Amino acid sequence: MSQSQAPICPLYYNGKWVTPAGKSGSSVFNPSRGSVIASVPMCGAAEVDLVVASAKAAFPDWRDTPPNERTQVLFRAKSLLEDAFEELCLGIATEHGKTLSESRGDLRRGIEVVEYACGIPTLLMGESLENIARGIDCHTDRHPLGVVAGICPFNFPALVPMWMWPIAIACGNTFVLKPSEKVPLTMQRVVALLEKAGLPPGVMNIVHGGRECVDAILEHPDVKAISFVGSTPVAREIHRKGTSHGKRVQAAGGAKNFIILMPDADVDRTVEAVKDGAFGCAGERCMAGSTAVAVGDAGERLLPALADRVKAMKTGPTDVRESQPDMGAVISAEHKARVSGLIDAGERGGAKVLADGRQTKVADAPDGFFLGPTLIDHVDETNALMESEVFGPVLAVMRAKNLEDAIATANRQAFGNGAAIFTNSGKAAREFRRNVSAGMVGINVGVPAPLAYFPFSGWNDSFFGDLHIQGKEGVEFYTQRKTTTTRWFGYGDGEIWAK
Ligand code: NAD
Repeated sequence: MSQSQAPICPLYYNGKWVTPAGKSGSSVFNPSRGSVIASVPMCGAAEVDLVVASAKAAFPDWRDTPPNERTQVLFRAKSLLEDAFEELCLGIATEHGKTLSESRGDLRRGIEVVEYACGIPTLLMGESLENIARGIDCHTDRHPLGVVAGICPFNFPALVPMWMWPIAIACGNTFVLKPSEKVPLTMQRVVALLEKAGLPPGVMNIVHGGRECVDAILEHPDVKAISFVGSTPVAREIHRKGTSHGKRVQAAGGAKNFIILMPDADVDRTVEAVKDGAFGCAGERCMAGSTAVAVGDAGERLLPALADRVKAMKTGPTDVRESQPDMGAVISAEHKARVSGLIDAGERGGAKVLADGRQTKVADAPDGFFLGPTLIDHVDETNALMESEVFGPVLAVMRAKNLEDAIATANRQAFGNGAAIFTNSGKAAREFRRNVSAGMVGINVGVPAPLAYFPFSGWNDSFFGDLHIQGKEGVEFYTQRKTTTTRWFGYGDGEIWAK
């Protein structure tokens, strides 16, 4: 399908799907085939105005809808999401390129946030203290902010938007979603289910675009808060611009997650977990274990088995339910070329390629954006592979004399999303957990991504803001507190009941 024949993704506002006229389009690909499947209108301030106006108009009534009524919509949405689960997952696999099993994980984790948000009546409860002075009581309760917006990356078409809107709307806010222009279709389908679940018009809204659209959201006076997930340079800028316009901002950025391999680690289970952590979702996840540090002789113990497992992985198209590979394509031809170039640079910098995915060819999908899994050893800190987030199917291995050196190497990186250690020593695990400068830590767990009830707690250049996404911090982010101090004259004087 050519770009001009591709179906255009509509905007959604005032409860209606609207295709904006005269907008340039950005192609949405099926990465397994390299084919265009849709086109996204690249909107600007005019469309953002329409969509924010819809959210603003819906806010007063939604705010006044009791929390237990708001959650009835979410209970129905959860049920509709379960009914459509397999169909939505094939859609994720098709627009993103990840495997069907990874797509199931993407949506399942998102549904868990809906389930968490169904408990909002309890989560919104305030605190009170009677008699802070004679006859005076004090209580604090939570109020929604108004119109809030979410700007999303490509790598989790379901989960990342669902980190945001279920909690935001359960708290009584109305929402403007700007999905990634690379994967807009999943949320289009999910929002259609929200509509079916009875969500009133204007509570959920979708606008499409890139930088111009995001800038219009950041500058819009009626948008009170912004949740952003994406790469670090953009996250930093969104936080700066958004806060300078007086908005509350949580901005999650990129990552380079270190996996420390101790000499006493269980070989089979560590190899399996490290392989899954590095190559799951073709390495396109912010919690990918992309850099392993082998301590002492851990490299000699683990790498031969790891190289064998990596070489045995099958890369291929993910858009056919019946035949699923171990790993799918990367998101675009440009991204494939970038990652491949980084491997070239890493090799030129003296590292040794143990498993090489650069020449991977997939016979039944010759135009797909495939890059096989690559394992590259003896990477040092000056190597080009260490300069930025790779975000592809590449596991770089470094060496360290001891645990202290390994932690110091990890802590010299600018990022701080996840970090993991594989060991049988409680003491080594404790040292690591206490001293590594990352917000999500795994002990013999390669991808320590927290579920909906916990914050997604990145540190350093992996997060800009104060309150993280999800969990109680998510509820805190989407609400503001009001503290009321009450005195009733007469009451407390022992008079009024007697009269
Ligand atoms: P990206 O930063 O290119 O884009 C993210 C969003 O920002 C998109 O909606 C895009 O349209 C918009 N955008 C892009 N450039 C912009 C600009 N200059 N100004 C304003 N808006 C802009 O990220 P991506 O490539 O879609 O996603 C991958 C990145 O997301 C990786 O760095 C990954 O680590 C990160 N990520 C982080 C987390 C986390 O929790 N920390 C989770 C998922 C993904």
